Amino acid sequence: MATEIYSWGGAEEVTGSKHFVHTPRALVQIDCGMFQGRRQETYEKNLSLPYDCEEVSACVLTHAHFDHSGNLPSLARDGFKGKIYATPATIDIARLILHDSAHIQASDHAYALRRKRKNPKRKGFIPEPLYDFEDVDRLMDRFEPLRYRETKEIAPGILLTFYDAGHILGSASAYFEVEEGGITRKIVFSGDLGRKNLPILRDPQHPPVPDAFVCESTYGNRLHDDIQQVDREMGEVISETAARGGKVIIPAFAVGRTQEILYCIHLLSDRGKIPPVPVFVDSPMASKATSIFTRHPECYDQETRDAFGAHATNPFGFEQLTIIRTVEESKNLNNLDGPAIIISASGMAESGRILHHLMNNIEDPRNTILVVGYMAQHTLGRRIADRNEKVKIFGEEHRLRARVKILNAFSAHADYNEIRDYMNHYSRKELRDIFLVHGELEPKKHLAGVLEDAGFRNVTPARLGERYRIE
Ligand SMILES: [Zn+2]
Repeated sequence: MATEIYSWGGAEEVTGSKHFVHTPRALVQIDCGMFQGRRQETYEKNLSLPYDCEEVSACVLTHAHFDHSGNLPSLARDGFKGKIYATPATIDIARLILHDSAHIQASDHAYALRRKRKNPKRKGFIPEPLYDFEDVDRLMDRFEPLRYRETKEIAPGILLTFYDAGHILGSASAYFEVEEGGITRKIVFSGDLGRKNLPILRDPQHPPVPDAFVCESTYGNRLHDDIQQVDREMGEVISETAARGGKVIIPAFAVGRTQEILYCIHLLSDRGKIPPVPVFVDSPMASKATSIFTRHPECYDQETRDAFGAHATNPFGFEQLTIIRTVEESKNLNNLDGPAIIISASGMAESGRILHHLMNNIEDPRNTILVVGYMAQHTLGRRIADRNEKVKIFGEEHRLRARVKILNAFSAHADYNEIRDYMNHYSRKELRDIFLVHGELEPKKHLAGVLEDAGFRNVTPARLGERYRIE
């Protein structure tokens, strides 16, 4: 058997990432994400991993997002005995995300049981939690930090080096040097690939030229707005809303997006581009995530160091900012008079404290709801982004009279031009194979065409479970 790669998730879809490097001596797994989607079928896919976990020699976590880290506890439960390698920031964020998931699974389960008890005839599948808090704690002991650009032998004949992927704090592309039969083959797994000029993060870095490059393709058929416009547009929205005496309400994911928004507001405020309005972050998860961001300045880009290093504060702490902790403090925001900015989760406005803030502010035309992330179909966030005249919050109808502003530029994934520009760094001669993963059929096909037009050879959209030999 030669060196092979294959995927048991995150091949033909964007959730459930599970990729493998396999040699006669070792089996290394890259990421162990949760599948997200329709209930029972997805649950069963997450419950039973389709390979022998005891055979996995080591695991590598490219970044902490749930679709890459969420099912690690099942890997450990099913017999994986090795170590999990990740950057120090990824380990901290993974702990937060996995604990949160254990909490959500337990409370969803309890809620479903209560409803069933009230109405025993009620049909519907009630999933058992896949893991609990203690499972996560046990799992965290398996992690071993590996810094960017440090090299470590993680399994017999397999060296790993991380390069910054510029996607979220701590995110990495994994560069493998795989020695087998006296020949060393080099393989890169991009992980989720970020973009140039994202707030806080360094631009994606290039590992040395490999024999095979396994690249994500989430937005393989899309182009994003220019990230450099974002500061200006956000400044305008905040200033205009404040001038009307209104509030800016921002639904945002707790990890990543909230900190990017805070960073932008901090800069705008330092540069005098917005009036000194009070800013509130109202999400327990976001405040924990923000303190993790503060603890990892080694992940910041030069601009962030320059902008904030000088005045000895952190990017996520400034005079007008209040981090809300208790439910009481959160409720007090309802009585707040005058202009303010409220950032709260969940990002798609499906649950969490953001619902209260939307309910209290959606009918006042002085206010603005700022959409800064992807809103999936059938979510409250999507209905607001679509500017429906009336929306339901907690079962009650409300008129959408606040203004709605959409900022599309915040995506953390490279679009197809950005992926092509990134790949242009590599020599077409030396890079023999490109495999596309982490994308649906259409984006993958489109990206394959873009890369072939740019002169790359052997671009293969990877199929689930199919083995590819690395020559
Ligand atoms: Zn990601």
